[in-house]
Amino acid sequence: MTTPFAIKAYPEMWEGLDMDVARFDKARQMLGTAYEKMYLSQSNRPQAMAYFDDLMAEIFGRRIEELLAVKKEGRPVVGTFCVYIPEEIVVAAGGVCVGLCGGSPGSIPDAEKILPRNICPMVKSAYGFKAGKICPYFQAVDFVYGETTCDAKKKTWELLDRLVPTYVMEIPQMKKGRDKTLWLEEIGDFKAKVEEVCGTTVTADNLAKAIVVINDKRRALQRLTKVRGSNPAPISGKDALLIEQMAFYDEPVRFARQLNELCDELEERVRSTTGVMPASAPRIMVSGTPMALPNWKVHNLVETAGAVIVNEESCIGTRYFKDLIDESRTNLDQQLEALTDRYMQIDCSCFTPNNERVDQVLKEYRASNAQGILHYSLQFCHTYNIEEIKIREACEKEGIPYLSIETDYSPEDVGQLQTRIEAFLEQIRG
Ligand code: SF4
Ligand code: SF4
Repeated sequence: MTTPFAIKAYPEMWEGLDMDVARFDKARQMLGTAYEKMYLSQSNRPQAMAYFDDLMAEIFGRRIEELLAVKKEGRPVVGTFCVYIPEEIVVAAGGVCVGLCGGSPGSIPDAEKILPRNICPMVKSAYGFKAGKICPYFQAVDFVYGETTCDAKKKTWELLDRLVPTYVMEIPQMKKGRDKTLWLEEIGDFKAKVEEVCGTTVTADNLAKAIVVINDKRRALQRLTKVRGSNPAPISGKDALLIEQMAFYDEPVRFARQLNELCDELEERVRSTTGVMPASAPRIMVSGTPMALPNWKVHNLVETAGAVIVNEESCIGTRYFKDLIDESRTNLDQQLEALTDRYMQIDCSCFTPNNERVDQVLKEYRASNAQGILHYSLQFCHTYNIEEIKIREACEKEGIPYLSIETDYSPEDVGQLQTRIEAFLEQIRG
């Protein structure tokens, strides 16, 4: 008899982090149940997913212990909310970067005590985790670094600063020469702040090493994306999404090693045409706003309906890892410029114009051998919701089956989404 899956409890450690332990413990149990139902019920999973299942079981335990050990050594733990924040600089300074984006409805009521209701659930969920003291990552960070990508985020940081030291990086909204100059200066300020807090200096040498560490993580994620282009798909979209989410929590060297091990197995599956679903299963690419842990809502609906998700064009997805940093630069100024160049390639909808994202969506659609695109927008995310029009037009022009959904984290619209997704899959099946 197999033991039921559980996310391990570390009440004493959580107490030490000044958490609302009783409330958090209920959330931990619910998350464990949801994971068991959605993840462990899948058939024919790759064996190397065992590492990521274990990571999930220890997400609020062993990984937090590791972060606390880092802090004990005098190294900082920095929380971020956006893939524009250059984690290489934190790693170069000896620190650890963790993603704090919120993907759960459980913390939203805490946020709505102060924030307006009509802002994106990701921002509310993240803020609520801190306000309600129900996230050990938020409790463990030394400071957080926000950004000025969208209005909801940049105004929330002013309030978040009352709860945890919050610094803000100005992200340009265009990509002209002067925007690059601003962006380079912002990266310099970020480096100075990290050095000040860490008490260490970012040198050409430690930055070069950090660039390789994070590039290696991105290379492993690229490898995972590539292998998903095979039919039958060797891994489910749900598992791939989980890995992309874990990329923001796990120790980067270990994560890349384990993911490469999984990719070895997946490549072997491709050679032997072993899939998680039959080759006839509709292949769907998701594009749009990021799905932060534990937001598995749409992937679960699509894959429960018999299709497979083969790509996420998203910040928790390819936008995080499609571009690497030039490793050939040897002096600090050149390295900071290389960082700037790489980060300026991110095609978030907060930029205008952002036509390169439309091209990128089409490119990834072809590379993933998908048969349809599901555009995913979080409610009240104006930039992605409006940019969706251009993605839809491009899909119409190319004859790509297309479905756009706008949703939040609540289960209320699940029935309606299920009906729309099933109709979309029928259209693809012909
Ligand atoms: S969608 Fe935009 S704001 Fe959100 S994480 Fe990605 S780059 Fe940052
Ligand atoms: S999903 Fe949209 S509204 Fe929400 S934080 Fe990201 S860019 Fe802002």
